[in-house]
Amino acid sequence: MAIQYSPFRMNVRDILNRPGEMREHRFQVPAREPFGEGLVAVREGSELDLDVRLESVHEGILVSASVDTVAEGECGRCLIDIALPVEVEFQELFAYHSGEAFEFEVQDDHVDLEPLIRDAVVLSLPFQPVCRPDCPGLDPETGLRLADHPELDSPNVRDPRWAALAGFQASEDQGPDVASDADPKRD
Ligand SMILES: [Zn+2]
Repeated sequence: MAIQYSPFRMNVRDILNRPGEMREHRFQVPAREPFGEGLVAVREGSELDLDVRLESVHEGILVSASVDTVAEGECGRCLIDIALPVEVEFQELFAYHSGEAFEFEVQDDHVDLEPLIRDAVVLSLPFQPVCRPDCPGLDPETGLRLADHPELDSPNVRDPRWAALAGFQASEDQGPDVASDADPKRD
């Protein structure tokens, strides 16, 4: 099988079968494909900051890594463009080939971190990303972003006069269902 160059494949030859040996690497590499398919994703070419520790253990190479990058997309409420910092960590054993089936194995003196990095990043992405935790979303009538137009933001809730009227209407609406003929308020 031909070995393709990948910046995510790390050479571990110098620590193979040397339990206790350890190597640490910090490097940056651009994502070679988009990570994620939701409202926010790490775009192809986005810089990934990797902090990788490779430890030789009896069964293989134990990889501990942290990934820092930025996901881009739009707020799920108001649709404005947003960028969210992504910071994830993972640990995985790359076993020596032993005849048993391991999900990750040392191959040709290398460990390939790309699928682990992708999965860790994708799992960390929010399904409902927001530009800020209290994003009020869009005005249903005008489609304008309420954060930019606070005057549109639910006048019947914010304005005490409207709130009082809304409460009055609600009790009026409920009246026929709850009230019996003996309702004292109606006398
Ligand atoms: Zn928003």
